[in-house]
Amino acid sequence: MKIGFIGLGNMGGPMALNLIKAGHELAVFDLMPASVQKLTEAGAQAFASPAEVAAQDIEILVTMLPASAHVRTVYLGDNGVLSTVRPQVLLIDSSTIDPQTARDVATVAAKQGNAMLDAPVSGGTGGAQAGTLTFMVGGAEADFAKAKPILENMGKNIVYCGGTGNGQVAKIANNMLLGISMIGAAEAMNLGVSLGMDPKVLAGIINTSSGRCWSSEVYNPYPGVVETAPASRGYTGGFGADLMLKDLGLATEAAKSVKAPVTLGATAQQLYQTFSNLGHGGLDFSAIIKMIEKQG
Ligand code: NAD
Repeated sequence: MKIGFIGLGNMGGPMALNLIKAGHELAVFDLMPASVQKLTEAGAQAFASPAEVAAQDIEILVTMLPASAHVRTVYLGDNGVLSTVRPQVLLIDSSTIDPQTARDVATVAAKQGNAMLDAPVSGGTGGAQAGTLTFMVGGAEADFAKAKPILENMGKNIVYCGGTGNGQVAKIANNMLLGISMIGAAEAMNLGVSLGMDPKVLAGIINTSSGRCWSSEVYNPYPGVVETAPASRGYTGGFGADLMLKDLGLATEAAKSVKAPVTLGATAQQLYQTFSNLGHGGLDFSAIIKMIEKQG
């Protein structure tokens, strides 16, 4: 199948490479020449704008961009996808953005005959490289069925979440809980260790007791407790604190539109904002424990 792919960064780059490995022909665009080059070396054809990619004889177009503003520009801008794309090309946006932007762009696309799915992912850069991402997909069920085999080239759990925007809803709800639970795990670990517990013994108790969660068990923020966690390699190579801050911002903004209280989500956002302002936004988000330790 001929596929368009726009946004070839840390996530989009390896996702696009996996599509090539699966035998698809790719038409690509990114603002960064170095990112484009990695794809052309693997056999993709590069174009000069989103409009040029969209003008190709493609069946599906995937985007993987930083945030809502980029998605609006790439689809709705002067040289955007919707200025040239043929009707019936299925559009898939895998960026993490706010559900309202996903719904707005899909509405404009539908008016000119293009179905659109929001399909944000979890699994990080490791999952993107290994092709084991989870896709949370919102849109029409028939379009989901058409997209699923393509998404399976990049991920292993492809989950239908309901109507347009619901993929983003699932993503931001999950990541809000993750942000909150990481701070909880960090507070509990710091409390226990400060009161004299060995961190590994404490984590062992938590992980076989009712405090158990992904943040304590798989991704424990205390160094040396989980060898494979970013905490055990200087908080590098994981999910950046600034990306967590962005997702908490999306969650708290979306919450306003439905008047849903997100007291802990908003508190987590403020803590990550402070952590970022201290210059640590590039560290893995579990490094928030450093800020908690310093308060002691
Ligand atoms: P990134 O910054 O590495 O990549 C984004 C790419 O988009 C860059 O190459 C940039 O040049 C390109 N871009 C920006 N504006 C563009 C435009 N107008 N036209 C064409 N290309 C443009 O970001 P990433 O880590 O790949 O993340 C992409 C999305 O995936 C984000 O929404 C992020 O929240 C989400 N996400 C990231 C992770 C992660 O661990 N990195 C995990 C899950 C979800």
